Amino acid sequence: MTASELIAQAGKGKALPGKNELIRHYQGKRLTPSQAIKAYCYDCSGYYDGGAGDCGVPTCPLYPYAPYSNVKAPKELLADKSKAKSRTGVKKRNIDRLNALLPGVEGY
Ligand code: SF4
Repeated sequence: MTASELIAQAGKGKALPGKNELIRHYQGKRLTPSQAIKAYCYDCSGYYDGGAGDCGVPTCPLYPYAPYSNVKAPKELLADKSKAKSRTGVKKRNIDRLNALLPGVEGY
């Protein structure tokens, strides 16, 4: 698909966050990281054809920054882990104990 075809295709999408940024990208213009995320989410969500809203994919690295994400900070994704840490008072030296309490949670 050529750039002009991509621009025409995106131009038919709903006028929502990311549309102009995606078109600017197809035009070869430089985007800021924030604009690039909006453009990518606009494309990823099928131009929000099914309606604007949270994509519901918290495993996506862009999710905290997506225009309609319910999570606005990456650390919120780790909220359970943070709560567990403060609730139990576990420090880094007790990694094994924490892993036993929270199987499947990585990063300690
Ligand atoms: S945050 Fe959602 S819409 Fe944006 S790129 Fe990830 S999965 Fe797609």
